[in-house]
Amino acid sequence: MFNIYKYYDLMDKISKRKRLEFAFLPTPLHKLENLSKYLNANIFLKRDDLTGFSTFGGNKMRKLEFLFADLIEKDSEYVFTYGATQSNHALQTAITANYCGVKPVLYLVDVIKEKNKLPKANLLLDKILNAEIKLIDLKEGEESFEAMNRAQEESKKYIERLSEQKNDCYIIPPGGATPVGSLGFINAYLEIKKYEKDMHISFDHIFHATGTGGTLAGLTAANSYLEDDIQIHGINVSNKDDRYINDIIKLAEESLSIIDIEKKITKENIDVSPDYVGDGYEVPTDEANDAIKLFAEKEGIFLDPVYTGKAAAALVDYIGKGKVEDDSNIIFWHTGGTNALFADEKMLGNLI
Ligand SMILES: *Cc1c(COP(=O)(O)O)cnc(C)c1O
Repeated sequence: MFNIYKYYDLMDKISKRKRLEFAFLPTPLHKLENLSKYLNANIFLKRDDLTGFSTFGGNKMRKLEFLFADLIEKDSEYVFTYGATQSNHALQTAITANYCGVKPVLYLVDVIKEKNKLPKANLLLDKILNAEIKLIDLKEGEESFEAMNRAQEESKKYIERLSEQKNDCYIIPPGGATPVGSLGFINAYLEIKKYEKDMHISFDHIFHATGTGGTLAGLTAANSYLEDDIQIHGINVSNKDDRYINDIIKLAEESLSIIDIEKKITKENIDVSPDYVGDGYEVPTDEANDAIKLFAEKEGIFLDPVYTGKAAAALVDYIGKGKVEDDSNIIFWHTGGTNALFADEKMLGNLI
């Protein structure tokens, strides 16, 4: 159950915030009949792989709708962002930047040590978009997020130089994980509640891959404000420390705060699982690969080894272990990222 008055209130408050409506929203939500039968569960798929507006959508488009509205208000000429060489976020930012007539500058950490003469997958698309790309090597023993912090530090000099030449730069941190960006997932959560009302169904669980945490923060913010009882499972795709969940809660609170809602958020409806990361970000796992094949064989749906595959491995495991009640209605959030199937084979492990 959830608070219907707060639902209308949240819709009203978020609609006052500037947003560029370039994503294809609401994204479809449909039941996976074959997979549900096979796993003996009720599994629905939320299709944020279909956010558009290019062929290569994904969850970041929701954040970028709000971030670029902010950017345009500030009249910026450049947008800086950060990610791995195969970052979906960096690609979606470059796509949106070109569309808005803003120059994208991408600081990309070479996590997998790309050796291809011709760049592949997202890096190839970044080049086609003519984004300005700064490659950052991952140092021995360095975690990808540490290299990302280093990239942000390094970009400061360039940003300063551009500002001296009177060029305004808009900075989007990795994954677009800011209070403004997370508004996109407050909006997304409202799509779920509307679907429930229209279709006379109620959901019990949401599973999704969590990286920088902006997605989880937005979902958590809405879930908490609406006093809803859907359990949100954020499946880690990279190694995190104990601060992660508190950072998410802080981001969720700040996101509500910019739409004039002051709310203290507690951990009770959020489950962050570190159990499906394997050896780290962009390192494949057998369980994720099995899940990729399962979704493809049962439903013709393509997941990816970096994000959605790992989240799907968790979904299968939770159901297998009885960690979700029988008959519960589960949303699996397809956050995009399928391009990774066409990246370096190192990202695929023993997929085929
Ligand atoms: C970025 C990304 C995520 C994680 O979203 P965050 O908001 O960074 O936690 C999940 N899946 C895919 C495909 C992504 O690109």
